[in-house]
Amino acid sequence: MTTNHELFDRARKLLPGGVNSPVRAFKSVGGEPFFTARADGPYLWDVEGKRYIDYVGSWGPMIVGHNHPAVREAVERAVRDGLSFGTPCAAEVTMAETIVSLVPSVDMVRMVNSGTEATMSAIRLARGATGRNKIVKFEGCYHGHGDSFLVKAGSGALTFGVPTSPGVPKAAADLTLTLPYNDIDTARALFAEHGDDIAGLIIEPVAGNMNCIPPKDGYLHDLRELCTQHGALLIFDEVMTGFRVALGGAQAHYGITPDLTCFGKIIGGGMPVGAYGGRRDLMEQIAPAGPIYQAGTLSGNPVAMAAGLAMLELIQAPGFYDALTARTVQLTDGILGAARDAGVPFSVNRVGAMFGLFFTNDTVETYTQATAADVGRFNRFFHGMLDRGIYLAPSAFEAGFLSSAHGDAEIEATVDAARAVFATL
Ligand code: PMP
Repeated sequence: MTTNHELFDRARKLLPGGVNSPVRAFKSVGGEPFFTARADGPYLWDVEGKRYIDYVGSWGPMIVGHNHPAVREAVERAVRDGLSFGTPCAAEVTMAETIVSLVPSVDMVRMVNSGTEATMSAIRLARGATGRNKIVKFEGCYHGHGDSFLVKAGSGALTFGVPTSPGVPKAAADLTLTLPYNDIDTARALFAEHGDDIAGLIIEPVAGNMNCIPPKDGYLHDLRELCTQHGALLIFDEVMTGFRVALGGAQAHYGITPDLTCFGKIIGGGMPVGAYGGRRDLMEQIAPAGPIYQAGTLSGNPVAMAAGLAMLELIQAPGFYDALTARTVQLTDGILGAARDAGVPFSVNRVGAMFGLFFTNDTVETYTQATAADVGRFNRFFHGMLDRGIYLAPSAFEAGFLSSAHGDAEIEATVDAARAVFATL
């Protein structure tokens, strides 16, 4: 039998850090990652046959659980007709119709292959449409690895303490203005000074890359007003929150209409997919309808569209989000209760089926508070849970995700494990 350790040894010789995406390497929590052999429902199995209850869900896409038969069968059917055409296909049209029908702010959409492509393309559109150069983002928010976004970024960039990556030209970073999340006064001051130069403001409407931090009451509404007032576009990065915190994403949950929205993860059903969309007058400026260039050899891939469409159909089942939210409450209340019983300083954030666990007694509303929580304790908790077959995101700065495949048995097993681990901390 191949072991996780043997595979990681081989991987490290040929892949930077042994992985194809940084957070997977367990660098922040210590130790070595396991290699997944297969996944089904709420579970992963590693190459050694150990089973884990999974709260990462491929970092968000697997909202109906792994290997859902409807998604798998849609992919199997699509594969029989060919893997890629390089011409338009019917599934792209259905996908666009589905997204537009579910997300009211989106009149037109362009499919891409990842969340990173979606955000990079959206800011090009914002710059092209406004004729301005500056972009505003928030400290601790992650929008993929485009040059403009690796400035005070979250996720792996935050975990590793390299919020600005070498290789990002200073000239590019200079065009990215950063703000503290959940602080409207600094946003007002920034716009008062630079408003005329700002093409767009991009935000995770629920921050999920500095752990999970919901917006304060009225915050997104105030940002919407600020952008409108200064002629800047409001761009919601709903790569994580889209079709997760509600069927219509965070914009439906909070009742805000952004100008542009970025998607990824769930719309691909587990295949590599992203999309951006929004107001018709903006989207019509994208090539070949308009002059702003953006393209993709594999964009709108028929197999990826089939997976995404099957997923989008499943999540439209009546009561889907109510049930998922109730499960998330059950899980986070259970873990919080176990922490309280053990006298461990702990707090929880949650919106829909997205949650964050913090080793602090504070209710976490800011990046500063998130980074002040006890990371060492989180890392010990992570490993204690992993030993007991519970896989949480391997970093104190990532949100957790539930799926509709997580049932009472999995939640109870998770809370029991948490109780046992809290007793050791
Ligand atoms: N935006 C957000 C909010 C994300 O969480 C991520 C990835 N976690 C991205 C963009 C980038 O997506 P991808 O990894 O598919 O490029």
